[in-house]
Amino acid sequence: MALKFYNTLSRKKEVFRPIKDKKVGFYACGPTVYWFAHVGNLRTYIFEDILKRVLEYNGYKVRHVMNITDVGHLTSDADTGEDKIEVSAKREKKTAWEIAEFYTRAFKKDLELLNVKHPDVWVKATDTIKEQIKLIQALEKKGFAYKISDGIYFDTSKLKTYGRLWPKKMKLKAGARVKMVPGKKNPADFALWKFTPSGVKRQMEWSSIWERGFPGWHTECVVMAAKYLGVPFDIHCGGIDHILIHHTNEIAQSEAAFGKILARFWLHGEFLTINRGRMGKSEGNIIILDDLIKKGFNPLAYRYLCLTAHYRSRLNFSWPTLKGAQNALNNLYQKVKDLKSKEITENRSLSTKGYRGKFLEFINNDLDTPKALALMWDVINDKNLSNKEKYQLLLDFDKVFGLNLAEIKKPKIPQKIKKLVEIREKCRKEGLWQKADEIRRKIKQMGYWVEDTKEGPKIKKL
Ligand code: AMP
Ligand code: ZN
Repeated sequence: MALKFYNTLSRKKEVFRPIKDKKVGFYACGPTVYWFAHVGNLRTYIFEDILKRVLEYNGYKVRHVMNITDVGHLTSDADTGEDKIEVSAKREKKTAWEIAEFYTRAFKKDLELLNVKHPDVWVKATDTIKEQIKLIQALEKKGFAYKISDGIYFDTSKLKTYGRLWPKKMKLKAGARVKMVPGKKNPADFALWKFTPSGVKRQMEWSSIWERGFPGWHTECVVMAAKYLGVPFDIHCGGIDHILIHHTNEIAQSEAAFGKILARFWLHGEFLTINRGRMGKSEGNIIILDDLIKKGFNPLAYRYLCLTAHYRSRLNFSWPTLKGAQNALNNLYQKVKDLKSKEITENRSLSTKGYRGKFLEFINNDLDTPKALALMWDVINDKNLSNKEKYQLLLDFDKVFGLNLAEIKKPKIPQKIKKLVEIREKCRKEGLWQKADEIRRKIKQMGYWVEDTKEGPKIKKL
């Protein structure tokens, strides 16, 4: 079953084949650690986790790299405004380094609660400053960079392919896209290195051959991706808001410096909305994972909710829809419990291939999780499948869903039932067969069945 992804670069679904054998180089833009991730951000990381799991399900070995943006992400995409981390540091009366450390930890904890697999490589932007300066020097040498009063900028007019990720109509409106910084040659030009303004002492700044300062956000990602995956690598991901500026500018630097596109596949997750508007810190409408937990929700109910929508569709968050997801998840866990407590040794050797084939067809078709999830419920309700087959199929599907179904424990036999079984055993030993049968009937009415085996009585849930 061919694996197909919608590639933002070509604006169509393409068959995915890695550059090298069965290995996949995968870069996902990580968080800017100035505040807790909101559940919108987390939707993007869940989508990327599903993508990684689908690749693994198909037998690929994934090298997953994620950055931590701990410097250089400004409050405005137009290369103006303050560094988000430094703003938080002032507000919380901590150092910028403490802020980054604290919110990185909080982010990693959120991923764990959502059962999102950790990347193979975590890399902080502040750990690759030297390499970033090198890249900017290379761009300068090739004539793609120029200096103005507040920094070194990339000259987008020098790169014919600039804006490859943009939809066609964007190209016409390019001039209107970004507010001009005085001295910038073209509206879309972006900062590679920003100088610390005179009279200001930043906490995060480095000396350079130009002036003291810090790197631009788009330079960080291209350097970290190239360092750990080489160029080109297979898949680059992020939220849909990264298409027009951040990823466009990563590609531009890679093409200018290395003469190659940075990655072959570019996948973007749609927004989580709230009241139909984008969830975002600047929109003032964010909800964080802790808010969900405080209201008694299992974080995996949020993961389940994300699975119900295709990653390229908007998903509107509301408490009632989350409640619906929590109910569905509870129901699923109950079904798995029931399956576990029933005898799952029978094997009617009915073929489950049909279901496995369908599952692969759905997930390999650009990660169609809503259809795959519906299929899981068809499995549960299929009267022609044995319990064992159902259970095995669910565990298999859960390699992609990541809902922790394998950890569902067999339900405990209630004390009352155990006591009745004990009394029945005693009756049997004393030859009181009628009484023993009566107790067995009572146990059955209570939803359990006693089977007499050589090793003693075995209890199972009906
Ligand atoms: P940031 O920490 O701001 O760099 O964002 C982290 C990730 O979350 C990026 O991939 C963004 O594209 C993504 N993102 C931001 N807002 C939303 C949203 N409302 N829904 C889904 N993803 C989002
Ligand atoms: Zn990035």
